[in-house]
Parts: sequence; structure tokens; C-alpha cells
Amino acid sequence: MTSCDHEFCSLLPIMILLYLFRYTYEVSPVFLLVEEAVLKRMIEFIGWKEGDGIFNPGGSVSNMYAMNLARYKYCPDIKEKGLSGLPRLVLFTSEECHYSMNKAASFLGIVQMTFLFWIISQGAAPFLVCATAGTTVLGAFDPLDKIADICEKHGLWLHVDASWGGSALMSRKHRKLLHGIHRADSVAWNPHKMLMAGIQCCALLVKDNSDLLKKCYSAKASYLFQQDKFYDVSYDTGDKSIQCSRRPDAFKFWMTWKALGTTGLEDRVNRALALARYLISNLNVFFPEYANICFWYIPSSLRKMEEGPEFWEKLHQVAPVIKERMMKKGSMMLGYQPHRGKVNFFRQVVISPQVSREDMDFLLDEIDLLGRDL
Ligand SMILES: *Cc1c(COP(=O)(O)O)cnc(C)c1O
Repeated sequence: MTSCDHEFCSLLPIMILLYLFRYTYEVSPVFLLVEEAVLKRMIEFIGWKEGDGIFNPGGSVSNMYAMNLARYKYCPDIKEKGLSGLPRLVLFTSEECHYSMNKAASFLGIVQMTFLFWIISQGAAPFLVCATAGTTVLGAFDPLDKIADICEKHGLWLHVDASWGGSALMSRKHRKLLHGIHRADSVAWNPHKMLMAGIQCCALLVKDNSDLLKKCYSAKASYLFQQDKFYDVSYDTGDKSIQCSRRPDAFKFWMTWKALGTTGLEDRVNRALALARYLISNLNVFFPEYANICFWYIPSSLRKMEEGPEFWEKLHQVAPVIKERMMKKGSMMLGYQPHRGKVNFFRQVVISPQVSREDMDFLLDEIDLLGRDL
């Protein structure tokens, strides 16, 4: 929440008190209905007619859920039989995928990705493709439509990690970045990123509407999920989760959505991307796909140098020095990193609706001021 003159803000303290546990309808009726309503709207934005979903503590956890769900779909008797008798399962993803994919794979005993081709020749079974819509460092989008063609042809589950890029679905102008997402089997989307719903707020959406989530994750604990309740127990959604109690994270997005409206959320996305475009208009960089602006500051002493090993080595040291100076001065906290053979560069990701063009101008002027003498 940022607009503090809004009526919702006065309710906020009371609502925070209501942050209770939840797993069955009688424990948490309102939050379960809120979660259902929010998931339904998110599913519409993906372009599915129906679907299922769950809010999780993090996009990383959503990716893990999806991976396990895809494996369950591939071998539905895994809960009874375990892993024995299965071929070695492999998944495809890109080098730019989020590191949570590696974590999820190792957690589930699925083959690490670098050995894929060797392992397939050893009789392993591909079952899943994890595409990324908005990579964390560079903000790149995988071509979902083309990937979906391949998945369809080979009967592979398609998971799209749209933790970062999913919010572009809210913008009529930018949703084409995710063209083809409706063909995915599951989507991870974090409204706590670009839409700035209170952290944590992360959903896994699943296209299947035949209770796959519940079948995959349920343990039917009899002290919570009595199967002989003589009424519709479909709201006892807790058994879809690997957790027992959960925070009602959907509520934060519901509040933000109610306060800003769909057009307000759309404005957030459009504004973030417009500011990113403004920033690069002052830089000599390639046109980025999303809001991640990655750039080098080349001090004048390096500008006439040839781009050989010495140049890159020197440039590598520039960002850490400027970073040190900005932190000690207290003027900015811009981050930097190396990435895949590229020496240290700055990375600015614009999302806050409070950031203005003047701030973008300041950012560049300040870097120049701090690094001019290098
Ligand atoms: C941020 C991010 C994640 C992880 O989300 P958490 O909520 O921080 O766990 C996963 N994938 C991508 C592409 C991300 O940018």
C-alpha cells in the first residue's frame, strides 16, 4: 500500500491482526474465499478458462511445487511406489533460469541440468520443460509459443517461471512479452515483485482442473481433513499445500488490487517499463525486454582503450569502487554483479511508483560524479 490517504489504510492494522492460520474452511473461511477469488482472476489473466492454484512462501517454492506436480503427473503412483522402478527423470531449462530450479531438482532427486544430453543417451526420461518469463538478472523472456510446440509434440509438462515477468500480463501494452503463456501447464507468478503486493505474495497457477494439486499433495490427515464431513469440503484447501498452516498471502494482493483497481495495477507495470525505457534513452545499450537495465560505466580513462583483456579487467574493478563510494557517501544503493563472462556491471530495476525521471537522471549523474576520476 502506498497511497496513504486511501480508506483501506485505516483498516490495515485491524486486518493484520486477522493474519491467522488456515487450512480448513472453518478455521479461515474469509481468507480461503479471498484466495479463491484472487487465483481465479490471475488464471483469467493467464488466459485459461479454468484452473487451480495456491499461494506459496516464494516463487522458489512455487517452482518446486510445479516440478513435483509434473513428476506426479508423469508417474501418478509415485506416492505409493516411491522412486524405484522409475527411469532417471530429467528436465530442460535454460542457463538463465532462476537458481531455485537447481534447488528444486536436487530436493526431488532429479538430474542436474548440465549432464542432460549424456543422461538421455543413458535411457533417462525427460518429463518437464521449465521456461522463464523475465529472467532475474537480464529480464529476458523465453519464446513460450515455440517451447509449447515442442512440449506438445513430446508430451512434456510446460512450467513457466513468470515470478518476475508475470506481472506484465496486467498490461495490455506489454502482455505480448508472455505470448503463448496460456499453453503452459503451470505458472509461477509473484505479485510481490512488480505489482508490489506486500512481500511475500507468490502464486502457483495450474491449468489442470481435475484436482491434480490436491491428489499430488494431500495426506488426508484425519484430524483436519475429515473425509466423512457430509457437505462440500472443497473449501478445505489446506491439503493442497506442503505446509500445514499458511499465511493468507493472497489477501495482500486482494487489498492492493481493491485499492488500485485493475487499471491501477496496469499503470504500475506501464510506468515501470516507461521509466526503464527513459533510463536507457540516456545510455548506449541494447534495448532490454523488461525493467532490468544492465550497464557499464566506462570512466574517461578507459574510453580510448582497446577492448582487450586489460580493458575488461580494469572495467571489472570500476563498479565495486563506485559502489563503495556511493555507500560511504550515502547517496544510492545501486547493485552490481558479473554475469556469465561479463565483467561487473550495474543493474537497475525500476518498480516503485514513487521513482521519477529525475531520480533516473540523478542515478546517472551520481555514477559519473563518483567515477569520473577512475
Ligand atoms: C525472484 C524470482 C524467483 C524467486 O522468487 P522468491 O519469491 O524470491 O522465492 C524465481 N524465479 C524468478 C525468475 C525470479 O525472478
